[in-house]
Amino acid sequence: MDLSADPRRTLPSVDQLLRWPWVAELAAQHGQPLVKEIIAQALSTLRITVTPFDADAFCGAVQNILTTRLSPSLRRVLNLTGTVLHTNLGRAPLPEEAIAAMTAVARGASNLEFDLDSGRRGDRDAHLEAWLCRLTGAEAATVVNNNAAAVLLMLNTLAKGKEVPVSRGELVEIGGAFRMPDVMLRAQCKLREVGTTNRTHLADYAEAITPRTSLLMTVHTSNYKVVGFTATVPEQRLAQLAHDHDLPYIVDLGSGSLVDLRRWGLPAEPTPMDSIANGADLVSFSGDKLLGGPQCGIIVGRRELIGRLKKNPLKRALRCDKLTIAALEAVLRLYSDPERLGERLPSLRALSRSRENIAEQCERLMAPLAAWVGQGYEVTSEAVMGQIGSGALPIEQLPSQALVLRSATAKRSGSQLNALAASLRGLPVPIIGRIQDASVILDCRCLDDETAFLEQLKDRR
Ligand SMILES: *Cc1c(COP(=O)(O)O)cnc(C)c1O
Repeated sequence: MDLSADPRRTLPSVDQLLRWPWVAELAAQHGQPLVKEIIAQALSTLRITVTPFDADAFCGAVQNILTTRLSPSLRRVLNLTGTVLHTNLGRAPLPEEAIAAMTAVARGASNLEFDLDSGRRGDRDAHLEAWLCRLTGAEAATVVNNNAAAVLLMLNTLAKGKEVPVSRGELVEIGGAFRMPDVMLRAQCKLREVGTTNRTHLADYAEAITPRTSLLMTVHTSNYKVVGFTATVPEQRLAQLAHDHDLPYIVDLGSGSLVDLRRWGLPAEPTPMDSIANGADLVSFSGDKLLGGPQCGIIVGRRELIGRLKKNPLKRALRCDKLTIAALEAVLRLYSDPERLGERLPSLRALSRSRENIAEQCERLMAPLAAWVGQGYEVTSEAVMGQIGSGALPIEQLPSQALVLRSATAKRSGSQLNALAASLRGLPVPIIGRIQDASVILDCRCLDDETAFLEQLKDRR
């Protein structure tokens, strides 16, 4: 057999290619190991598809692989889903003040756990505690990685090896496998279910209290609502019952807002201030839900109990980093001026936008979007309903306005809509909408960067 007749033999070796000026320059720019690996990958593609060796095809393949490899995996997208605090899309956008604070401490050393007055070791919670106490009326506060961690830490510290009565109506599952019964198990405490799914009375709790009981607890049913013939026990009465038995009363508030959202025309969500005033000894809530800050879990309450949480070795494992602390401190500072919060906090700004305001934006974007999508589709601006997200106020809807892309020929199959949604996701700043009623719906409530949206629609689809 004549081996020279095999066109693959005309392929240069990786080492030969590395000496090519074009490749050498890439290696100088991006590092030899990466470029070498990509060359090998490009060659193995070419071995199957292009023979004999085609230098242009080779360069194109290398460039493509390199571009994919070097573009970050985690990147910005435009959240036009209509769900403002979208867990899969990173929940709350941060205000500029928080971004600046993170940048300032990211670059170098900080007084993260260093007391500048005494020159001694400090406590990372110290940067946040005073703010949290002022804003919630609590005596003390600590912060961990997220609210799931906060609940785990509270239960493991105060209820390890003991029983925790919880209403059957509150055994929640939050997305991503946070289920109250499982968390109890991991916290090494024993869940004692009380009451029924729809009705739980004070007497149910009272009967459940034994010498093995560690505390009483309320879990906010943040992502569902039990309606109809229902009964729950108000915080005040549960706190009283717990205290009559010398037990702490704790509340997992889920989202928990630090302000009364009705001020911005939004539905009311329970606040940690109310729970503390009602007698709760500890209250936990998320930093990146309605609060509008970075991912973290905040626990506020009695000094003695917070002190015990901090001594639990789990606290060390669940603590949050300096970037989170910097961002949260900056966000909490915005809360000291509630008047301006609606403009300064991006999540609240998005949540409080009126449908009229969003509709004006849709008007501006309709024609450019129609030009981008091309003839097969008609683009309209329509009234839709959005939601807050992250389990906050699950059944309240936000009147919003969306750009709706619908087939002009009325007979588009689901796969064509999926392809359209995929090309929106394939843009440089991916646009994430939702598919509903045979259309792609782009709810513009969260679109604050109109320029980024328009810029990338200049090239036709
Ligand atoms: C969201 C939520 C959690 C989990 O909070 P993360 O900050 O997402 O960890 C726990 N409990 C309730 C009631 C919630 O709504």
